[in-house]
Amino acid sequence: MTRLNETHDPGLRSWVESANAAEADFPIQNLPFAAFRRAGTDEAFRIGVAIGDQVLDVTAALSTGALADVTPGSHAAQGAAACAAPALNGLMALGPAAWSALRLALSRALRRGAARADQLRSSLVSRSAVEYALPAVIGDYTDFYTSIYHATSVGRLFRPDNPLLPNYKWVPIAYHGRTSSIGVSGQVFQRPRGQVLPAGETAPSVRPTGRLDYELELGVFIGTGNSAGQPIGIDDAEGHVFGITLLNDWSARDVQSWEYQPLGPFLSKNFATTISPWVVTLEALAPYRAQWTRSAGDPQPLAYLDSAVNRAEGAFDIQLEAWIETAAMRAGRRAPARLSGTSFRHAYWTIAQMVAHHTINGCNLRPGDLLGTGTQSGPTPEQAGSLLELTGGGKTPIALPGGESRTFLEDGDAIALRAWCERPGAPRIGLGEARGIVALAGS
Ligand code: CA
Repeated sequence: MTRLNETHDPGLRSWVESANAAEADFPIQNLPFAAFRRAGTDEAFRIGVAIGDQVLDVTAALSTGALADVTPGSHAAQGAAACAAPALNGLMALGPAAWSALRLALSRALRRGAARADQLRSSLVSRSAVEYALPAVIGDYTDFYTSIYHATSVGRLFRPDNPLLPNYKWVPIAYHGRTSSIGVSGQVFQRPRGQVLPAGETAPSVRPTGRLDYELELGVFIGTGNSAGQPIGIDDAEGHVFGITLLNDWSARDVQSWEYQPLGPFLSKNFATTISPWVVTLEALAPYRAQWTRSAGDPQPLAYLDSAVNRAEGAFDIQLEAWIETAAMRAGRRAPARLSGTSFRHAYWTIAQMVAHHTINGCNLRPGDLLGTGTQSGPTPEQAGSLLELTGGGKTPIALPGGESRTFLEDGDAIALRAWCERPGAPRIGLGEARGIVALAGS
């Protein structure tokens, strides 16, 4: 099976020269979507597509007539028209035919040699001069738990005698999160307070969390939804997925360990979640698909979670990294420090399995719904996607450049998540950045 088409051709170059740099996140093979406007203005947010260090304003481009493949009544025209909105929900609802036709039209218009390139230049805005809104109106947010390495190491800290609960290898575990506190990259939030039970004490008290952490995750944006009572089959699941973003599920570990049984996380998670502004489509990610395997010694997935296509190419090899910039680094104009990195290909469950499982009971998903993958930790300890794991539950501080160290986050710390894909014979594409900052106390 091949899902590659002319938009993935590694030989394509753009007339926007910055898109052709070797380390660019946004070459012409990527073409991710965001909601943007010129920074510091009261312009309406609208949909843009990243190309190099520029944003193409799709609505402005449409008005120039330079999108040659956007012909009246076509799927591409439907997709382009939906980009006049302040969020991606309308485009998401149109489905894969419109997404793909719009991508093809944009690819042809932005590639080197395009006949109407000069007409399109006025529709570009420098990325350094824009600000972003959340890419979609997110009706519902569900956070999964798809890294068995994360589940096992966190389980060991919370339940040393019983780290991995027996349902883990059968059920793609998740909890329903909260949308009101999801923010786009640049989000600043106050250290949350909550009820904690300090070691050795018999009664809890309310205090600012002392164990504030990040979680390195991807977010999956649902495109077309399903009707209530109509589960989405595993081989139809990806057709309901618009694309991928970066997601940091900030967590208060002391609040979490006291509150999480028996119903799961609540106030330890719902005070802030940061996502990247750019949504990379599943079509753009096609060259970086990977086999999904389940070792013979583990339970094999139930029929609704299993298919030949899912096994052949249901995983994605997406490189993930977390970086920290402390207030001292920022003040001293020193570079951020890398905390860890892994790949999404290590996940125990795929995106298609997440969608199929979410709807097996008839639950209806809607355009713009967000599914978190759960913290992505790789097979080795240094590939862990949270400080909880990297510090052994806060017992072993991490040394940072400049003489600082961390067990958990301090006020003023910024965490930036980054991700990219690369493979021989395909270009490097990036997901941009999801950066969030713990406000300085009193600010
Ligand atoms: Ca999480």
